Amino acid sequence: MEFDQLGLSADLLRAVRDAGYNQPTPIQQKAIPVVFMGRDILGCAQTGTGKTASFTLPMLDILTEGTAKARMPRALILEPTRELAAQVADNFDKYGKFHSLSKVVLIGGRGFTDQERLLERGVDVLVATPGRLLDLFERGKILLNDTRYLVIDEADRMLDMGFIPDVEKIVSLMPRSRQTLLFSATMPTEIRRLADAFLNQPREITVSPPSTAAVTVNHRLSVVEPKQKSKALQTLIQQEEIERAIIFCNRKKDISSLTRTLKKNGIDAGEMHGDMPQPRREAVLEDFRAGEIRLLIASDVAARGIDVREISHVFNYDVPHNPEDYIHRIGRTGRAGSAGYAFTLATPEDDKAVDLINQMLGKNIDLIELPGFTKTSLDSSNHQSSHDEKQLSRHKHDRTRTKKNQSNSPSRSRKHSSSAADMPKKVHRTPSKHGKKTRKTNPKSAPSADQTPVAAKETKAPVGMGDHLPAFLARDIPKPEKILAKKMKGK
Ligand code: AMP
Repeated sequence: MEFDQLGLSADLLRAVRDAGYNQPTPIQQKAIPVVFMGRDILGCAQTGTGKTASFTLPMLDILTEGTAKARMPRALILEPTRELAAQVADNFDKYGKFHSLSKVVLIGGRGFTDQERLLERGVDVLVATPGRLLDLFERGKILLNDTRYLVIDEADRMLDMGFIPDVEKIVSLMPRSRQTLLFSATMPTEIRRLADAFLNQPREITVSPPSTAAVTVNHRLSVVEPKQKSKALQTLIQQEEIERAIIFCNRKKDISSLTRTLKKNGIDAGEMHGDMPQPRREAVLEDFRAGEIRLLIASDVAARGIDVREISHVFNYDVPHNPEDYIHRIGRTGRAGSAGYAFTLATPEDDKAVDLINQMLGKNIDLIELPGFTKTSLDSSNHQSSHDEKQLSRHKHDRTRTKKNQSNSPSRSRKHSSSAADMPKKVHRTPSKHGKKTRKTNPKSAPSADQTPVAAKETKAPVGMGDHLPAFLARDIPKPEKILAKKMKGK
């Protein structure tokens, strides 16, 4: 299917062409006509699938008719984080450059005055995080009783972050006769309940993880004593050939102290977490994008939706408590066909969290031992220690081979290094006689945006185009509810 078959205006087709898109992604093919029909949508899709354009593009054309009144936005897009809100607003500008619609971004950490002034003039589209929106509502600066279009994006993230009561409040302030689009990477019961409450006979659209680029993520786990974690991280940073890396910490307070420790040891890094003022967060992210900062130490705020390419490594300084966070964190690397490395530092007490991640991955993460560190294992690990040394030597071997191949190749970019022993061949798809996609091995071609693994279609894997997951992940991800049920049973 082509963009010009979706009913978009000539201006939008031009903007899409300028953005360099050749074909609509599956979510765009499925959602855009439904939005034009005025129907509600329950979309199971993740950041990276092209879902932002799937709602922004038709909304721009729909809103072309009509004008905005003071303090009454015509459309509202709710995002869980400031970064996602800023990213959606950028997309709105990119696709709407030939339209003359106005937008305001309402996010915490920015002064109220500018936002209020713009609202007062009347805006077509408001992109907001729930908390800031309610602040302004309570101060009488905004009215939602004539907002006819609502997008609730990353609903499961809203749930994780405790925003659902705010979202419910916001929806209660809106007119019943509205069009609502709700997107979520996963569909836990609570999100289904919300969908039932907010949506009117929605069309359900599910898109599967579209590419096999995920196979380029190599997972490694090292078990160390808590006091050795910072040294272990430094060892990894020194031994790895890092282009750009995110180091994830579970607690915000550890981010600054880890940044200081690394700096003291001659390793420069930026930091990013939810307590930082928004302009500072944006500046750090910009420096990271531009390559001014090579290492970014961050909380999970950076795990979703942040579209930064060429992140060669993700380090989990702490094992995430929630296995889905692991998936989102590692999805920052291995993008666009390049090799990615995900290293996790665990302590012996992390056995349960590691176990949950292994269950979600459908296999145990390879264990490695770091040179100069006491041999430590998880309290009740599934891993066999006799296996460990083999894994370490295999890992070293892989790295040497990768480096060798990189230096032999015309470009030293990691993008082209598909030679690590544990990196499956890239695959691409061609349409079969029946119009279905079939897989063909082609080591030269990188997967394209609209590819959908056949196996993954059979499950509702909570992943998307930008969150490249290993193929085995796409096949067999147990549903989070099942993992939870199993966990509860074990208690
Ligand atoms: P999203 O899922 O909306 O965050 O989009 C992820 C990335 O895909 C962004 O960098 C978009 O610019 C890009 N993108 C969106 N639609 C398309 C398309 N049809 N073709 C290629 N890239 C796209």
